[in-house]
Amino acid sequence: MTESPIVIPARAPSATPADDTILPFQVEALDLRGRVVRFGAAIDTILSHHRYPAPVAKLVGEATVLAVLLGSTLKFEGRFILQTQSDGPVRMLVINYTTPDKVRACARFDAERVAAAIASGKASPGELLGYGHLAMTIDQGPDAARYQGIVALEGNDLECAAHEYFLRSEQIPTRVRLAVAQELRAGRAGAHWRAGGLLVQFLPQSPDRARRRDLHPGDVPEGIELDEPPEDDAWVEARSLVETVEDVELLDPQVSAEQLLYRLFHARGVRVFRVRDLRAKCSCSREGVDRMLRSFSQDERNDMVENGKITVTCEFCNATYVFEPTEVSEPGRE
Ligand SMILES: [Zn+2]
Repeated sequence: MTESPIVIPARAPSATPADDTILPFQVEALDLRGRVVRFGAAIDTILSHHRYPAPVAKLVGEATVLAVLLGSTLKFEGRFILQTQSDGPVRMLVINYTTPDKVRACARFDAERVAAAIASGKASPGELLGYGHLAMTIDQGPDAARYQGIVALEGNDLECAAHEYFLRSEQIPTRVRLAVAQELRAGRAGAHWRAGGLLVQFLPQSPDRARRRDLHPGDVPEGIELDEPPEDDAWVEARSLVETVEDVELLDPQVSAEQLLYRLFHARGVRVFRVRDLRAKCSCSREGVDRMLRSFSQDERNDMVENGKITVTCEFCNATYVFEPTEVSEPGRE
């Protein structure tokens, strides 16, 4: 990571909250790197136009925050795709974060099962997902190899899945906090979605210090206790600080990301980097849909005709594209 630090050597935390931003930070004394994500209007745009049941919207919001926290730690230009596939009432989530600032999200779910889950009080994020997997893909365009990381979903929430992924696959001690809620404010009609998140990673110079006691070696007979290395003091301190973060601190429009970081790490000194903007922006286009339709066979396209037209609705942003069947019948025309 090569973000250039802000040149001011020390200053008070800014009290000005900024919605729809990513704030990267570093705590040198504890060998920590991280990010705070604050979503206001952008997440409200994404979640409102889908009109998902509230627990599904909340889950999509959490996945969106997670995708931005993870995607923005990577040094690349392209698209970070977070996707779940599982057997719960919400069978698929797809979140795209396209560098530097575009986010879109959608869910596929069984409306009857979601309604039943809500009615029986079993609509927590973990219960909505059920069992399956979460995949993270980095797509840097057609000329680059795609990287994919996968972690099992086992009835737990996305924070747990993220911790499990970093423990097993990356072996980077990591804590993630995600929060999503609807805000009612005087003078504004209706409720508005807000979301926030925090990612903290322990990245010491010496990799030995990042070894985790709960990484089981797997080849020890059952019943034998292992003499495992204790966790590094710096990471224990960092983790316990992150555990004090409450949802409201990640969501409250009156608390800035810098104030949150100051509250957590002021005793150690925290350095913030240039804040980056986020926006709800879909990458669909008439040209893209045109190309997609041409990639089907004529028979398949014939099956898509309804009332004399082919109508395609984007699952991410609900944009609707209407084509005359003859418009897309010749393959290869751009
Ligand atoms: Zn779209």
